[in-house]
Amino acid sequence: MSRPLPVHRTAIVVGLQEHREADRIVRLLTPENGRITAHARNARKSSRRFGGALDIGNRIEATLRPPKGGWWGLDSALLEDGRTHARGDLDRIALMAYATEVCGQLAREDHPEPKLYGLLDMAITVIDALSGPVSPLFRLGLEAKALTFAGIAPRLNVCMTCGLQPEGQMQLTTAGVHHYACSRDGEAVSTPWLAAIETARRTPLRESIDVPVPPGPQWALAELLEQHLGRRLRSRSILATLTH
Ligand SMILES: [Zn+2]
Repeated sequence: MSRPLPVHRTAIVVGLQEHREADRIVRLLTPENGRITAHARNARKSSRRFGGALDIGNRIEATLRPPKGGWWGLDSALLEDGRTHARGDLDRIALMAYATEVCGQLAREDHPEPKLYGLLDMAITVIDALSGPVSPLFRLGLEAKALTFAGIAPRLNVCMTCGLQPEGQMQLTTAGVHHYACSRDGEAVSTPWLAAIETARRTPLRESIDVPVPPGPQWALAELLEQHLGRRLRSRSILATLTH
């Protein structure tokens, strides 16, 4: 049987793993095919075909061969954006790794994911351009958008039990919020916190970088994400350590 013809995809590198003596297994997020797993033969030796393009968060132009069951083949990768400014700072590297893990994990395999791809590319572009500290609202907004684009966002603007608007202390669950009087399940959040998250969810990411977030559970949305994924986000603990 002949080899499948190569296709070209703009992609963001969301995972890397060494394989055999000189190969790599590369996870890519693409608009057309969502998350794909590709085998890059000899990637740890061939600078001609990969030339430093394979690093987490990089945007590349990938030449791929569709799978016949199993992995795609990654023939070569051309670097489009190496996020060089972001790589000069530990906080930015950690935030970029976190954004990459969130969007990469939520994306479905071999299924179009233009919104999650666009969100990740925008997030990394904003992180790459940062010149100072970033508000936690940026990360919360990213999480809220990612949950929305994956179709699993909790409803934050009405009580899931009575249908009325949030007021006072609310309880946050994976499905949405409840008044404390309507249900005591979930994590306690304030109405101003909910309003800030809802605004960040609906506005461009770059508008959240210097907006303070009202007191509330910093990692509540990350915990919802982890519940959906059924696993911990590995990059979260590094980011949390740097943030405090
Ligand atoms: Zn209620």
